[in-house]
Amino acid sequence: MTSLFEYAPAPESRSIVDIRPSYGLFVDGEFTDGTGTPLKTVNPATEEVLSEVATGSEDDVDRAVRAARRAFVKTWGPMRPADRGKYLFRIARLLQERAREFAVLETLDNGKPIRESRDVDVPLAAAHFFYHAGWADKLEHAGLGPAPRPLGVAGQVIPWNFPLLMLAWKVAPALATGNTVVLKPAETTPLTALLFAEVCQQADLPPGVVNIVTGAGETGRAVISHPDVDKVAFTGSTEVGRSIARTVAGTEKRLTLELGGKAANIVFDDAPIDQAVEGIVRGIFFNQGHVCCAGSRLLVQESVHDDVVAALQRRIGTLRVGDPMDKNTDMGAINSHSQLARIRELTAFGETEGATCWQPDGDLPDRGFWFKPTVFTDVSPAHRIARDEVFGPVLSVMTFRTPDEAVAKANNTTYGLSAGIWSEKGSRILKVTDQLRAGVVWANTFNELDPTSPFGGYKQSGYGREGGRQGLAAYLRSDS
Ligand code: NAD
Ligand code: MG
Repeated sequence: MTSLFEYAPAPESRSIVDIRPSYGLFVDGEFTDGTGTPLKTVNPATEEVLSEVATGSEDDVDRAVRAARRAFVKTWGPMRPADRGKYLFRIARLLQERAREFAVLETLDNGKPIRESRDVDVPLAAAHFFYHAGWADKLEHAGLGPAPRPLGVAGQVIPWNFPLLMLAWKVAPALATGNTVVLKPAETTPLTALLFAEVCQQADLPPGVVNIVTGAGETGRAVISHPDVDKVAFTGSTEVGRSIARTVAGTEKRLTLELGGKAANIVFDDAPIDQAVEGIVRGIFFNQGHVCCAGSRLLVQESVHDDVVAALQRRIGTLRVGDPMDKNTDMGAINSHSQLARIRELTAFGETEGATCWQPDGDLPDRGFWFKPTVFTDVSPAHRIARDEVFGPVLSVMTFRTPDEAVAKANNTTYGLSAGIWSEKGSRILKVTDQLRAGVVWANTFNELDPTSPFGGYKQSGYGREGGRQGLAAYLRSDS
């Protein structure tokens, strides 16, 4: 990449992690063999095989659900809420103590820059446990009825873009509210979930409270369709989310879905351009754009379009794309070969449909899965790159003239997870925010996540909220 400064490489050492050649399932407090065909997980930056991980069959999932049920009935359910809180505090502290180990392992297995896993994913995962630990003995004050009760066993399926953080979003509220868990990590990124299983052992968490069953879609299907699961929580693609909704329909199971997004990041002509450019970059290139709330549609007021695009291209020219373990790296590897293929397919549509594609100069590493930060201009709202979630470092730029037009274009999507507004004018921010059909709206910032703040979507982005007081409701029965 063109860059203003040359940096000496500053690679993080991987010696802190001890990756075993193979891993089993974590069921009832112990690692056990899985009966399915094991999967290999690779480092997407090098294609090196990191480890072989068990696949949970329907029988394995059944064992995990039984263990979770026993723990719910015998230990975790009857436990004093303040004691449950102590376990959560203990897990949070262990995540902090072992933060460097988790960050290195996450970067190796996922491909995201070490700077992000170290400064965002792992600290936020710990923060989720701290936050929910505080709620454990205060649930009757959460505004969810006088004596809210846990649902029972939660079956949770998570994606590969924030493996440990999505685990924390699922496990922390479930445990704080007195539920037990069977969690299935994504097939390309199971390793930090398995390290988390070790943390559960280290924290002396009673057996069966957290069970981790690795595997691919079939294992996920077994988790969400198991008859003794009371609550299903899923984060992933809209397509799989839809099939889960069909499976769960007509059962007693409670369901929350956190699916895709195609967020508008709206820049008004009075916005400080340099600050907005930083927010645009963070909005779409953070985590290689593998972010459901990514600001993938940039809406710029027409009068500042050329200035914003020029400043954005200059800034992108300074992004360092490459070795995720280098502390200078801004953008790492695409998580998998299949995700890279999807990004290539959608960007090819962008060109054939008539948008203009821009990428910075520079080479990408030879091995591994890589895609350059990409900006499409001359995009029309009908183009696929303006409608479909790319889930990669690809930005589609469109213009607007009036605030009403900005709102109409921003809401012209089947999704509704997040949005951003850049303006100096507070009244305009409030008015536009009110009209946006998105679960989260950021003002003069983007991709800011916090355990105290509810997160979730409208329309095909799913339903239910995670985080904050609202997120607790998804794991509690409020009728008394
Ligand atoms: P996916 O939805 O297939 O996978 C997410 C999780 O669901 C994984 O753990 C997977 O094993 C599991 N799963 C797959 N099929 C299942 C089924 N039938 N029942 C239960 N669980 C099942 O997502 P993907 O294939 O990895 O990515 C495809 C697209 O999804 C991406 O391009 C992106 O657009 C979107 N995506 C969104 C998010 C998000 O955070 N909203 C995360 C990942 C992917
Ligand atoms: Mg991997």
